[in-house]
Amino acid sequence: MENNNYMLSVRNLKKYFNTPGGKLHAVDDVTFDIPKGTTLGVVGESGCGKSTLGRTILHLHPKTSGQIIFDGRDISDVSKAELHELRKEMQIIFQDPFSSIDPRMSVKQLIAEPLKIYKLCKSKEEIEQKVKETMETVGLASRLADSYAHELDGGRRQRIGIGRAIILNPSFIVCDEPVSALDVSIQAQVLNLMMDLQEQRNLTYIFITHNLSVVKHISNDIMVMYLGTAVEKADSKELFKHQYHPYTKALISAIPRVDIDNKSERILIRGEITSPIEPPNACRFAPRCEYATERCHNEFPQLEEVEPGHFVACHRVRELNNL
Ligand code: SF4
Repeated sequence: MENNNYMLSVRNLKKYFNTPGGKLHAVDDVTFDIPKGTTLGVVGESGCGKSTLGRTILHLHPKTSGQIIFDGRDISDVSKAELHELRKEMQIIFQDPFSSIDPRMSVKQLIAEPLKIYKLCKSKEEIEQKVKETMETVGLASRLADSYAHELDGGRRQRIGIGRAIILNPSFIVCDEPVSALDVSIQAQVLNLMMDLQEQRNLTYIFITHNLSVVKHISNDIMVMYLGTAVEKADSKELFKHQYHPYTKALISAIPRVDIDNKSERILIRGEITSPIEPPNACRFAPRCEYATERCHNEFPQLEEVEPGHFVACHRVRELNNL
């Protein structure tokens, strides 16, 4: 039986792309659950499959195999009509809002567009009222209603993207690097807005980013991805206190710190990155891992629970961390 407290459960999800050299394993056997009203941060370098994961969950890419359960309903295979209906519930916020919006539309037209597509309002007045309320909710001044996106700064453009995502009242949003293109000062404002909306509307987020320091504040749980696979997953606070996978340790050591007394050194990752095309049945991190043994090169490590709620995919995790 499915757990009703989960907004999303993903089981053994795979997304492979056909390339001239063979199948590119963008997402390879990823499994996780997200409780309702919480955020799962998904982090990793570019090319680790985190954006493909988000898009495959939303059926923007057809999955190769695996199961997607949304609010207790198996949506792994849905018809076009079912998908159209699901879109009201499952939305996405993109990294660069400018690339995802029509530059010829004004702010109010952009925010109204989803309402028109779904014919959710009975009158023009009702649409105008909903747009007005949404602009207010996302912090866009009403005087900007007739402006165009190119006249606005990055933060305001992202507020349009958020407005378009929430106007249909979804319960789940994939946030794909939503603040990466913004100045640091604006990033905090947009993150605060997203956290406020989550609290007010009990939203569930997948927050995808390459920036661990951003994801720390917004996420309840964090999943670290490396070349299409999940290598570590834990509660956010726990992960920042204890990292057990060598890749996660290197990622966290690379976060800039203001504390001058902090003597912890940045761990540099050297070595060739494994090709994601037809990768060997081995730890994907092995060519770059200073602890790799023969087993690491010959056997794929599965995620295992090493502490309550803390999962790691590494053959040597217990030995290296005295667990
Ligand atoms: Fe390193 Fe081996 Fe662990 Fe992979 S399985 S992270 S190669 S020690």
